[in-house]
Amino acid sequence: MIIVAATQNKHKIEEISAITKPLGMEIISRKDAGVPDFEVEEDGETFEENSEKKARAIMEACGQVTIADDSGLMVDALGGAPGVYSARYAGEEGNDAKNNVKLLAVMSDVPMKERTAKFVSVITMVYPDGSKLVARGECRGHIIFEERGTNGFGYDPLFVPEGFSKTFAELTAEEKNKISHRASALRELERLLKEREE
Ligand code: IMP
Repeated sequence: MIIVAATQNKHKIEEISAITKPLGMEIISRKDAGVPDFEVEEDGETFEENSEKKARAIMEACGQVTIADDSGLMVDALGGAPGVYSARYAGEEGNDAKNNVKLLAVMSDVPMKERTAKFVSVITMVYPDGSKLVARGECRGHIIFEERGTNGFGYDPLFVPEGFSKTFAELTAEEKNKISHRASALRELERLLKEREE
């Protein structure tokens, strides 16, 4: 089964492919599916809204099954921020370095025991007949006081998942892919796909 990825983020495509390959799903980029370059505005208030909006826009452009992920970091002490604004928290879309500097500054007075947070991923698969599957995954952890590690992307250097002492950026891609919010959403998607086939 060939599935078009709505995301242009190479890291996310790699993470999604690593998990979907064993399920017999081949992920191709929207570019390889012949979708022209256009922006889908992520103006929803929830990960679910944004994820479906992206998947539907790309599916309509290529007529093939499309998968989209909307994800972000929710910090308890910040009332769930940056949430759906994670990618543009410091004002500039996708500037990971600036986002991390801002998060550390905003949380400078928050003591360790109150630095709990979670990554959320909502993966939506939209079919040419308009039907959809929606899978949500979460990974709980906490935000440390300085960046550690160079793997991954985004807030990875600041996030230590529950039960670990290393940040996501200090874990290997293989280790992260076992426990990440995206992995958990993809496991849920796998369950939904099997249910749909029955
Ligand atoms: P999206 O591309 O709209 O889903 O934005 C997701 C944003 O959330 C990214 O730009 C990162 O800032 C953050 N994010 C989502 N997943 C991860 C992850 O696995 N590690 C680190 N940051 C992430």
